[in-house]
Amino acid sequence: MTGDPPPGLPPLRDVVARHGLMAKKSLGQNFLFDLNLTGKIARAAGPLEEATILEIGPGPGGLTRALLSNGAKKVIAVERDERCLAALEEIAAAFPGRLDIFPGDALALDYPAFLAARGAEPPIRICANLPYNIGTQLLTTWLALDPWPSFFDRLVLMFQREVAERIVATPRERADYGRLGVLANWRCETRILFDVPPSAFTPPPKVTSSVVELRPRADPLPCGVRALEKVTLAAFGQRRKMLRQALKSLPGIGDPALLLEEAGIEPTRRAEEIDIAGFCALARAFSRRTG
Ligand code: SAM
Repeated sequence: MTGDPPPGLPPLRDVVARHGLMAKKSLGQNFLFDLNLTGKIARAAGPLEEATILEIGPGPGGLTRALLSNGAKKVIAVERDERCLAALEEIAAAFPGRLDIFPGDALALDYPAFLAARGAEPPIRICANLPYNIGTQLLTTWLALDPWPSFFDRLVLMFQREVAERIVATPRERADYGRLGVLANWRCETRILFDVPPSAFTPPPKVTSSVVELRPRADPLPCGVRALEKVTLAAFGQRRKMLRQALKSLPGIGDPALLLEEAGIEPTRRAEEIDIAGFCALARAFSRRTG
């Protein structure tokens, strides 16, 4: 453990031992106990004084403590593992009125309705060390919300480094560029803030992690999110093929070459060569054809 725990709270390792919180792989549990690191992540989501922070997967509460110690007005924490709830209640008692614990599945939430029901006040930000097994799915859910901009003013999230690279990838970095990068960079400005080595976690994962920041764009290029998801699924589903071939899997479009012509894209191009403006043009052409 690095540093002292917040006043009134025992060290996290003691809490984990007392509540028997052995990490479960099935829940993607890799806990952070280093106060310097949790403080660094919390400050990356700052300024916190006016903010409501949505934290997914607080676990025993390392990052939760840091968010509250660094001044977050309120933290709403969604945790699926009931074993962690008693430890989180201790934190709520140490920061009266500032920690709202919701025991439940983060994948099952209708976020705007959930936050309205909890009385969350803007600015609302998501800050989390996400469970790796559902991190991409959660991010995609938040990025696909309509209307846009959505309820959050920023996302500060920990992912495996390889996923972080896919989130920030542009067509120039072809190996990593794919559906996630198109969706993320269409709607947000993205960047990797810093890396976190496996040794920072208990238990240590096999790979390096990275904290990623996504700031919503006020005015993303016009196109429908469902149409964009469909065209990128078809295009990157067969990423080595020319688009005139790969897009044949799209239903209801007729000749892909005509769709591509309408979008101003050469039919011999491959998905990894098309920038976000190109995919938006393709999504608009797809919407016009399929209604
Ligand atoms: N925030 C803690 C930390 O940094 O030490 C724990 C992070 S751990 C990587 C992921 C957390 O997400 C675990 O506490 C796990 O129980 C929780 N979790 C896993 N699946 C979940 C789900 N579907 N909904 C809510 N929480 C979930």
